Amino acid sequence: MTECDVCFRKCRLDEGRTGMCNGRICKDGKTVAANYGKITSAGLDPIEKKPLRNYKPGSLILSVGSYGCNLMCPFCQNSDISWSEEAREAAEEADMIRPEDIARKASELVAHGNIGVAFTYNEPLIGYEFVRDTAKLVKEKGLDNVIVTNGTAATWVLDEIGPYIDAMNIDLKAFTDRFYRKIVKGDLDMVKDFITEAVKRCHVELTTLIIPGENDSEDEIRSLSSWVAGLEGKVPGNEIPLHITRFFPRYKMTDRDATPVDKIYRLAEVARENLKYVYEGNV
Ligand code: SF4
Repeated sequence: MTECDVCFRKCRLDEGRTGMCNGRICKDGKTVAANYGKITSAGLDPIEKKPLRNYKPGSLILSVGSYGCNLMCPFCQNSDISWSEEAREAAEEADMIRPEDIARKASELVAHGNIGVAFTYNEPLIGYEFVRDTAKLVKEKGLDNVIVTNGTAATWVLDEIGPYIDAMNIDLKAFTDRFYRKIVKGDLDMVKDFITEAVKRCHVELTTLIIPGENDSEDEIRSLSSWVAGLEGKVPGNEIPLHITRFFPRYKMTDRDATPVDKIYRLAEVARENLKYVYEGNV
Protein backbone atom coordinates (compact mmCIF):
# COMPACT_ATOMS: atom_id res chain seq x y z
CA MET A 1 0.00 0.00 0.00
CA THR A 2 1.22 3.48 -0.86
CA GLU A 3 -0.22 6.96 -1.21
CA CYS A 4 0.22 9.02 -4.37
CA ASP A 5 0.84 12.70 -3.73
CA VAL A 6 0.93 13.96 -7.32
CA CYS A 7 -2.50 15.54 -6.89
CA PHE A 8 -5.04 16.42 -4.20
CA ARG A 9 -6.79 13.05 -4.44
CA LYS A 10 -3.98 11.28 -2.59
CA CYS A 11 -5.08 7.87 -3.84
CA ARG A 12 -4.08 5.00 -1.57
CA LEU A 13 -3.03 2.13 -3.76
CA ASP A 14 -2.34 -1.54 -3.16
CA GLU A 15 0.40 -3.21 -5.20
CA GLY A 16 -0.60 -3.38 -8.87
CA ARG A 17 -3.60 -1.05 -8.53
CA THR A 18 -4.02 2.16 -10.53
CA GLY A 19 -5.29 5.45 -9.15
CA MET A 20 -8.44 7.32 -10.09
CA CYS A 21 -6.61 8.97 -13.02
CA ASN A 22 -5.80 5.57 -14.58
CA GLY A 23 -2.30 6.87 -15.30
CA ARG A 24 -0.44 5.97 -12.08
CA ILE A 25 0.10 2.57 -10.52
CA CYS A 26 1.58 1.13 -7.34
CA LYS A 27 4.69 -0.83 -8.32
CA ASP A 28 7.19 -2.24 -5.83
CA GLY A 29 5.58 -0.16 -3.12
CA LYS A 30 5.86 3.19 -4.98
CA THR A 31 3.49 5.07 -7.29
CA VAL A 32 4.88 5.42 -10.79
CA ALA A 33 3.51 6.42 -14.19
CA ALA A 34 1.53 3.50 -15.63
CA ASN A 35 1.36 5.34 -18.95
CA TYR A 36 5.13 5.93 -19.33
CA GLY A 37 5.95 5.96 -23.06
CA LYS A 38 2.42 4.93 -24.03
CA ILE A 39 1.60 7.51 -26.67
CA THR A 40 -2.01 7.57 -27.89
CA SER A 41 -1.82 10.64 -30.14
CA ALA A 42 0.83 12.62 -31.96
CA GLY A 43 0.74 15.44 -34.50
CA LEU A 44 2.59 18.51 -35.73
CA ASP A 45 0.28 21.32 -34.59
CA PRO A 46 0.33 25.11 -34.86
CA ILE A 47 1.34 26.44 -31.45
CA GLU A 48 -1.81 28.58 -31.43
CA LYS A 49 -3.81 25.34 -31.08
CA LYS A 50 -2.37 24.62 -27.61
CA PRO A 51 -3.45 27.50 -27.20
CA LEU A 52 -0.38 29.73 -26.92
CA ARG A 53 -0.65 33.10 -28.63
CA ASN A 54 2.27 35.07 -27.19
CA TYR A 55 4.95 32.37 -27.42
CA LYS A 56 6.70 31.98 -30.80
CA PRO A 57 3.56 32.69 -32.85
CA GLY A 58 3.37 31.06 -36.26
CA SER A 59 5.47 28.06 -35.27
CA LEU A 60 4.64 24.35 -35.27
CA ILE A 61 5.20 21.94 -32.41
CA LEU A 62 5.28 18.15 -32.21
CA SER A 63 2.38 17.37 -29.87
CA VAL A 64 2.15 14.08 -28.00
CA GLY A 65 -0.24 12.64 -25.44
CA SER A 66 -0.94 9.49 -23.50
CA TYR A 67 -4.05 8.39 -21.60
CA GLY A 68 -5.55 9.24 -18.22
CA CYS A 69 -6.68 12.34 -16.35
CA ASN A 70 -7.19 13.25 -12.70
CA LEU A 71 -10.26 15.44 -13.25
CA MET A 72 -13.73 14.36 -14.30
CA CYS A 73 -14.93 17.20 -16.53
CA PRO A 74 -18.36 16.27 -17.93
CA PHE A 75 -17.57 18.53 -20.93
CA CYS A 76 -14.19 16.92 -21.71
CA GLN A 77 -13.11 17.59 -25.28
CA ASN A 78 -10.62 14.71 -25.29
CA SER A 79 -12.68 12.03 -23.52
CA ASP A 80 -11.76 9.50 -26.20
CA ILE A 81 -8.15 9.87 -25.01
CA SER A 82 -8.49 10.77 -21.36
CA TRP A 83 -11.19 8.35 -20.34
CA SER A 84 -11.68 5.77 -23.06
CA GLU A 85 -10.97 2.16 -22.13
CA GLU A 86 -10.20 1.48 -25.79
CA ALA A 87 -7.44 4.10 -25.85
CA ARG A 88 -5.98 2.77 -22.60
CA GLU A 89 -6.02 -0.85 -23.77
CA ALA A 90 -4.56 0.05 -27.17
CA ALA A 91 -1.82 2.11 -25.53
CA GLU A 92 -0.97 -0.62 -23.03
CA GLU A 93 -0.54 -3.13 -25.82
CA ALA A 94 1.47 -0.79 -28.03
CA ASP A 95 5.27 -0.71 -27.97
CA MET A 96 6.77 1.80 -25.59
CA ILE A 97 7.97 4.97 -27.25
CA ARG A 98 11.16 6.03 -25.49
CA PRO A 99 12.01 9.64 -24.58
CA GLU A 100 14.95 9.50 -27.01
CA ASP A 101 12.58 8.43 -29.83
CA ILE A 102 10.46 11.55 -29.31
CA ALA A 103 13.47 13.84 -28.98
CA ARG A 104 14.92 12.44 -32.21
CA LYS A 105 11.59 12.82 -34.05
CA ALA A 106 11.29 16.41 -32.80
CA SER A 107 14.75 17.13 -34.14
CA GLU A 108 13.97 15.58 -37.55
CA LEU A 109 10.86 17.73 -37.80
CA VAL A 110 12.78 20.99 -37.35
CA ALA A 111 13.14 21.03 -41.15
CA HIS A 112 9.32 21.19 -41.31
CA GLY A 113 9.07 24.13 -38.89
CA ASN A 114 8.97 22.23 -35.60
CA ILE A 115 10.23 24.08 -32.51
CA GLY A 116 10.04 21.24 -29.97
CA VAL A 117 7.56 19.05 -28.11
CA ALA A 118 4.19 19.81 -26.52
CA PHE A 119 2.87 17.39 -23.89
CA THR A 120 -0.87 17.59 -24.29
CA TYR A 121 -4.16 15.80 -25.16
CA ASN A 122 -4.50 13.92 -21.84
CA GLU A 123 -3.26 15.33 -18.50
CA PRO A 124 0.53 15.13 -18.85
CA LEU A 125 1.42 15.72 -15.20
CA ILE A 126 -0.02 12.40 -13.97
CA GLY A 127 2.86 10.92 -15.99
CA TYR A 128 5.38 13.61 -15.08
CA GLU A 129 8.30 11.13 -15.19
CA PHE A 130 7.93 10.73 -18.94
CA VAL A 131 7.56 14.49 -19.42
CA ARG A 132 10.70 15.11 -17.34
CA ASP A 133 12.83 12.47 -19.07
CA THR A 134 11.71 13.47 -22.57
CA ALA A 135 11.84 17.22 -22.03
CA LYS A 136 15.41 16.95 -20.74
CA LEU A 137 16.53 15.30 -24.00
CA VAL A 138 14.52 17.75 -26.11
CA LYS A 139 16.24 20.64 -24.33
CA GLU A 140 19.65 19.07 -24.97
CA LYS A 141 18.84 19.26 -28.68
CA GLY A 142 18.23 22.99 -28.33
CA LEU A 143 14.45 22.68 -28.74
CA ASP A 144 11.49 23.89 -26.67
CA ASN A 145 9.07 22.09 -24.36
CA VAL A 146 5.47 23.07 -23.81
CA ILE A 147 2.91 21.65 -21.38
CA VAL A 148 -0.87 21.89 -21.65
CA THR A 149 -2.26 21.04 -18.23
CA ASN A 150 -5.22 21.34 -15.89
CA GLY A 151 -2.74 22.59 -13.26
CA THR A 152 -4.04 20.16 -10.66
CA ALA A 153 -0.73 18.89 -9.38
CA ALA A 154 1.47 19.47 -6.36
CA THR A 155 4.16 22.09 -6.78
CA TRP A 156 6.89 19.46 -6.25
CA VAL A 157 5.84 18.07 -9.65
CA LEU A 158 6.68 21.47 -11.08
CA ASP A 159 10.11 21.22 -9.45
CA GLU A 160 10.69 17.95 -11.33
CA ILE A 161 9.81 19.25 -14.79
CA GLY A 162 10.33 23.00 -14.37
CA PRO A 163 13.98 23.22 -15.47
CA TYR A 164 13.08 21.91 -18.94
CA ILE A 165 9.76 23.64 -19.66
CA ASP A 166 9.58 26.85 -21.73
CA ALA A 167 5.86 27.52 -21.84
CA MET A 168 2.59 26.24 -20.42
CA ASN A 169 -1.06 26.67 -21.06
CA ILE A 170 -2.86 26.02 -17.78
CA ASP A 171 -6.62 25.71 -17.39
CA LEU A 172 -8.20 28.02 -14.87
CA LYS A 173 -11.59 26.47 -15.45
CA ALA A 174 -13.54 28.80 -13.16
CA PHE A 175 -12.98 30.89 -10.07
CA THR A 176 -15.29 29.24 -7.55
CA ASP A 177 -14.77 26.27 -5.24
CA ARG A 178 -18.28 25.16 -6.17
CA PHE A 179 -17.35 24.73 -9.84
CA TYR A 180 -14.12 22.87 -9.09
CA ARG A 181 -15.67 20.57 -6.47
CA LYS A 182 -19.04 19.88 -8.05
CA ILE A 183 -18.51 20.12 -11.81
CA VAL A 184 -14.98 18.82 -12.42
CA LYS A 185 -14.32 17.10 -9.06
CA GLY A 186 -11.16 19.13 -8.65
CA ASP A 187 -9.49 21.58 -6.28
CA LEU A 188 -9.26 25.30 -7.08
CA ASP A 189 -6.65 26.01 -4.38
CA MET A 190 -4.24 23.44 -5.86
CA VAL A 191 -4.64 25.02 -9.30
CA LYS A 192 -4.04 28.53 -7.94
CA ASP A 193 -0.90 27.36 -6.12
CA PHE A 194 0.35 25.64 -9.26
CA ILE A 195 -0.21 28.72 -11.44
CA THR A 196 1.41 30.98 -8.84
CA GLU A 197 4.59 28.90 -8.98
CA ALA A 198 4.50 28.26 -12.75
CA VAL A 199 4.49 31.96 -13.68
CA LYS A 200 7.81 32.38 -11.86
CA ARG A 201 9.44 29.74 -14.04
CA CYS A 202 8.26 30.02 -17.63
CA HIS A 203 5.88 31.68 -20.06
CA VAL A 204 2.31 30.92 -18.93
CA GLU A 205 -1.03 31.44 -20.65
CA LEU A 206 -4.36 30.54 -19.03
CA THR A 207 -7.59 29.17 -20.47
CA THR A 208 -11.13 29.52 -19.14
CA LEU A 209 -13.88 27.65 -20.97
CA ILE A 210 -17.10 29.58 -20.44
CA ILE A 211 -20.02 27.25 -19.70
CA PRO A 212 -23.53 28.76 -19.70
CA GLY A 213 -24.93 28.92 -16.19
CA GLU A 214 -21.76 27.65 -14.49
CA ASN A 215 -18.92 30.19 -14.72
CA ASP A 216 -20.25 32.87 -17.07
CA SER A 217 -20.97 35.80 -14.75
CA GLU A 218 -19.15 39.09 -15.23
CA ASP A 219 -18.36 39.13 -11.50
CA GLU A 220 -16.58 35.78 -11.71
CA ILE A 221 -14.46 36.77 -14.70
CA ARG A 222 -13.68 40.10 -13.03
CA SER A 223 -12.46 38.27 -9.91
CA LEU A 224 -10.52 35.73 -11.94
CA SER A 225 -8.77 38.31 -14.11
CA SER A 226 -8.03 40.50 -11.10
CA TRP A 227 -6.31 37.55 -9.38
CA VAL A 228 -4.26 36.90 -12.54
CA ALA A 229 -3.27 40.58 -12.68
CA GLY A 230 -2.08 40.25 -9.07
CA LEU A 231 0.26 37.45 -10.18
CA GLU A 232 1.67 39.66 -12.91
CA GLY A 233 2.56 42.18 -10.22
CA LYS A 234 4.66 39.57 -8.39
CA VAL A 235 6.77 38.85 -11.47
CA PRO A 236 7.75 42.22 -12.96
CA GLY A 237 7.49 42.34 -16.75
CA ASN A 238 5.41 39.17 -16.87
CA GLU A 239 2.14 39.56 -18.75
CA ILE A 240 -0.18 36.57 -18.57
CA PRO A 241 -2.50 36.06 -21.54
CA LEU A 242 -5.98 34.74 -20.80
CA HIS A 243 -8.00 32.73 -23.33
CA ILE A 244 -11.77 33.02 -22.88
CA THR A 245 -13.19 30.18 -24.93
CA ARG A 246 -16.57 29.03 -26.04
CA PHE A 247 -18.19 25.82 -24.76
CA PHE A 248 -19.89 23.35 -27.09
CA PRO A 249 -22.08 20.53 -25.73
CA ARG A 250 -20.18 17.24 -25.67
CA TYR A 251 -19.31 14.10 -23.70
CA LYS A 252 -21.68 14.10 -20.68
CA MET A 253 -22.68 17.76 -20.80
CA THR A 254 -25.26 17.95 -23.56
CA ASP A 255 -28.06 19.57 -21.57
CA ARG A 256 -27.32 23.11 -22.76
CA ASP A 257 -26.47 25.06 -25.88
CA ALA A 258 -23.08 26.38 -26.92
CA THR A 259 -22.02 29.63 -25.25
CA PRO A 260 -23.42 32.61 -27.18
CA VAL A 261 -20.64 34.32 -29.10
CA ASP A 262 -21.55 37.78 -27.77
CA LYS A 263 -21.17 36.44 -24.22
CA ILE A 264 -17.57 35.47 -25.01
CA TYR A 265 -16.80 38.92 -26.43
CA ARG A 266 -18.43 40.63 -23.44
CA LEU A 267 -16.53 38.54 -20.87
CA ALA A 268 -13.29 39.15 -22.77
CA GLU A 269 -13.98 42.89 -22.45
CA VAL A 270 -14.50 42.43 -18.70
CA ALA A 271 -11.19 40.56 -18.40
CA ARG A 272 -9.45 43.38 -20.30
CA GLU A 273 -10.28 45.70 -17.40
CA ASN A 274 -7.43 43.86 -15.62
CA LEU A 275 -5.31 42.19 -18.29
CA LYS A 276 -3.51 43.37 -21.42
CA TYR A 277 -3.77 40.14 -23.40
CA VAL A 278 -7.19 38.48 -23.58
CA TYR A 279 -8.09 36.23 -26.50
CA GLU A 280 -11.50 34.91 -27.51
CA GLY A 281 -11.42 31.23 -28.49
CA ASN A 282 -13.73 28.95 -30.52
CA VAL A 283 -15.70 31.95 -31.82
S1 SF4 B 1 -2.21 11.55 -9.81
FE1 SF4 B 1 -3.69 9.86 -10.10
S2 SF4 B 1 -3.06 8.26 -8.65
FE2 SF4 B 1 -2.04 10.17 -8.02
S3 SF4 B 1 -3.40 11.07 -6.46
FE3 SF4 B 1 -3.96 11.99 -8.46
S4 SF4 B 1 -5.61 10.70 -9.26
FE4 SF4 B 1 -4.63 9.53 -7.61
